[in-house]
Amino acid sequence: MDFSDLPPANKRLGQNFLIDPNIVRKIVALAEVSQETHALEIGPGRGILTEALCKAAGQVTAVEIDPRLHAYIAGRQAEFPNLTLVLGDALTYSFEELPAGTVVVANLPYYISTPLLFRLLEHRDRIPRMVLMLQNEVADRLVAKPGTADYGVLSVMAQYAADITKAFRVSAQCFRPRPEVGSAVILLRTKERRELSPDEESKFGALVKAAFAHRRKTLVNSLKDEGYDQVRIVGAIDHLNLPAAVRAEVLTLDQLIQLTRTIASRG
Ligand code: SAM
Repeated sequence: MDFSDLPPANKRLGQNFLIDPNIVRKIVALAEVSQETHALEIGPGRGILTEALCKAAGQVTAVEIDPRLHAYIAGRQAEFPNLTLVLGDALTYSFEELPAGTVVVANLPYYISTPLLFRLLEHRDRIPRMVLMLQNEVADRLVAKPGTADYGVLSVMAQYAADITKAFRVSAQCFRPRPEVGSAVILLRTKERRELSPDEESKFGALVKAAFAHRRKTLVNSLKDEGYDQVRIVGAIDHLNLPAAVRAEVLTLDQLIQLTRTIASRG
């Protein structure tokens, strides 16, 4: 393939472009995009995924931070009549403007994949599902189960907001330039029902962070070190019939939700 007429890759912007049409097809199929779908792509880059999305979806919005790539895609706009191209940073883009039901499909820039994912999850009321390429190691943490080494804050917070499956791994050979880390595609189906109120959600986020802050310590000690009242934690753990020396890493999402509520109610 000849890339000489294309803007060169900027590593700092996480530019590892997909070059394998099979992977593009698999990503679009997984996203179940139809002519009724509004799709959002973050980082269209040289447009390989954008092109496939524009064929499959009714409308596509694509947000690109790099002015050179934005100009390149804008120059091909005639090929994509249903594309709204935005020059901007996806970390500050106002997702509120997207229509309800928007499906996110993206080969994410890895240097910001986690904060981007959480920004997208904050807007899950309008995003029923997302198909995202990210680092394999991040994908493993997102789907990790309690009691495993990968299970932590990322797993709990993401699984609170969405049902997540790791769909398939992608070889470095499918990109130019090749990324230095492994890649994988995940499917996230966001949860319609919010289990916790906004106030409880912020307590839950803080508790999960504190619970995993000292992985080698027991839950009581980790929370105590993070400023929680020991008597209240011990009481809550007992109330939930958990062993006194339990560690955060074995607690399920539901148990962490119950713990948040129990500690709050003992305040
Ligand atoms: N979608 C293309 C593909 O699959 O070949 C490019 C994917 S490349 C991994 C990531 C893309 O995200 C690049 O085009 C990069 O310029 C863009 N990007 C990086 N940071 C961004 C940000 N903060 N907001 C929007 N786009 C960003």
